[in-house]
Amino acid sequence: MPIEWALPYLVLAAAIAGLLTGSFLNVCIYRIPRDLSVVAPRSFCPECGKQIAWFDNIPVFSYIALRGRCRSCRQPVGLRYPLVELMTAALFALIVYRYAFTAVAGKWLLFEAFLVVLFWTDLEEQILPDELTLGGSIAGLIIACFVPIPGMLTTALFPGWKPVWRSLFSIGLGFALLVLPVWLLGVIYQKLRKREGLGFGDVKLLLLMCTFLGFENSIFATMLGAVAGSVLGIAYCLLTRRKLAETHLPFGSFLCAGAALMPIIYRLTA
Ligand SMILES: [Zn+2]
Repeated sequence: MPIEWALPYLVLAAAIAGLLTGSFLNVCIYRIPRDLSVVAPRSFCPECGKQIAWFDNIPVFSYIALRGRCRSCRQPVGLRYPLVELMTAALFALIVYRYAFTAVAGKWLLFEAFLVVLFWTDLEEQILPDELTLGGSIAGLIIACFVPIPGMLTTALFPGWKPVWRSLFSIGLGFALLVLPVWLLGVIYQKLRKREGLGFGDVKLLLLMCTFLGFENSIFATMLGAVAGSVLGIAYCLLTRRKLAETHLPFGSFLCAGAALMPIIYRLTA
């Protein structure tokens, strides 16, 4: 643990790293659902295709300086760009505030980055890309071997087990008791109603949550997301006078929000 006086500086550094990471996550949010490379070419305006100079690509500040418009075609740049940068900065700062400069902090920073992208791709395109859900699950599984997943249930059941086995058991439990049943419900619903109710992207998102959070905390995150989603969904339908059954709710985005809050609300370290 670093000495206490260093923490404010670490939090500030994390916020700046979050702004820069958020800028990259914006590229991911636009390009991954369109099957474009996230490394090349350099950032361009989606309206006029002109490459964006580095001084017009400074997180948040460039957006304010250009008053939210492209320098060359003057078309408005989505408000999403500064929002993602600020959101990532806030999440990174909160994670470092809670976990300081540790391996556990590194794990949660990566998890938050996956969730920020998934939150927005589901909101904007109704897509939860496999690269992030399945790719992220593989990353989570590997990390679980080195950074143990905390869980009261597995600790109570197997106090003698090594943390790595408890972690993998917790992921397995999440797969058997959360991911598989929700997947089965989706299959049955699709057979009965002949349309997709809960998307299978959501099932893969649950898998990603289980590999990072483990079984019990994934259940809490799902409940948190479901409650928030229901309240917001009903409020949205009441305000806009839409029918709830015909409105597409971005359930994946709500799940992401629930999962992103877990390591911030609770100190999730084994
Ligand atoms: Zn432009």
